[in-house]
Amino acid sequence: MGNMQISINECQERKTKPSTDGIAFGRNFTDHMFIADYTEGIGWHDHRIVPYEPITLDPSAIIFHYGQTVFEGLKAYRAKDGAIRLFRPEENFRRMNESCDRLCMPQINEADALEALRTLIKVDREWVPEAEGTSLYIRPYMIATEPHLGVAPSLMYKFIIILSPVGMYYKEGIAPVKILVENEYVRAVAGGTGAAKTAGNYAASLKAQAVAEKMGYSQVLWLDGVEKKYVEEVGSMNVFFKIDGEVVTPALNGSILGGITRKSIIEMLKSWGVSVTERRITMEEIKTAQQEGRLDEAFGTGTAAVISPIGEFSWKGDSFTIHGGKAGELSTKLYEELTDLQTGVKEDTFGWVT
Ligand code: PMP
Repeated sequence: MGNMQISINECQERKTKPSTDGIAFGRNFTDHMFIADYTEGIGWHDHRIVPYEPITLDPSAIIFHYGQTVFEGLKAYRAKDGAIRLFRPEENFRRMNESCDRLCMPQINEADALEALRTLIKVDREWVPEAEGTSLYIRPYMIATEPHLGVAPSLMYKFIIILSPVGMYYKEGIAPVKILVENEYVRAVAGGTGAAKTAGNYAASLKAQAVAEKMGYSQVLWLDGVEKKYVEEVGSMNVFFKIDGEVVTPALNGSILGGITRKSIIEMLKSWGVSVTERRITMEEIKTAQQEGRLDEAFGTGTAAVISPIGEFSWKGDSFTIHGGKAGELSTKLYEELTDLQTGVKEDTFGWVT
């Protein structure tokens, strides 16, 4: 991008907005979308806001065959005063560029991408819901569009942003979830694409998720792909534990996605004077700490749920509860502080909100 000019083609008729009460995640989309095209040798061009509608791609487009694609996920919140707030959007575009680098895809201009997003949200501002716990989910993504069956980086791409009004991600709200520790399938391996937000990682996760759901668990906890010993992530969340009063989370090792919520939680805890250690954590250590009564809390962090307390783990046929299966004080406090900041109830002393 760079020196971006955005053309805007607003639709004639607006869709009726769904009620956000009990709305399903990711099934409703706003009136417009942003698109830019990339051609090798030219760069990004034809930045435009157009009515939300199907796009046409050649059946041989590389995305369909070799999965060269990356995406992001963030939210816009409606504050009490009606203002629309974005939470650390520049972090998402930075991470998108890191994902692009891993997948041999072109870099976007991060400032232009943010400007495109702001312009799109202005056009569709009436879609940012007001009710508590609701938001406008933002999905920027890039796909390889060159018609070519050779296994090689595409010479053409589309960068697209779509918007979807959402209610609370977990129907239970801040209620704890039951987690199955996955011992057969793995999500990512060292040197693989685990740290990139790319489609293949999610396709690889579906089987384990389906099995877990059948067994009555809401998500899986992924172990490392080599020894199946170290804790990595929980579903599409990063994971934190409070052991002996200390907060620990797996260190970013190349196979874990570096969550923006994770980063914010670490910064927030440090600002409160709570020590947080990023290191390798074995599942054995978690189990032992639980048995000895030293595991105070466990929770997942991510854009969708913000904080999701973990009430129960099942590992190799043994299950154990955490914090009596109830949300812990730290998880609850972090959830309240972060959502208050995102929705403008509390002053943003960190400078995270745009
Ligand atoms: N891990 C995975 C695999 C994810 O998909 C997500 C959601 N983007 C996260 C962690 C949490 O990241 P964030 O806090 O940026 O939403």
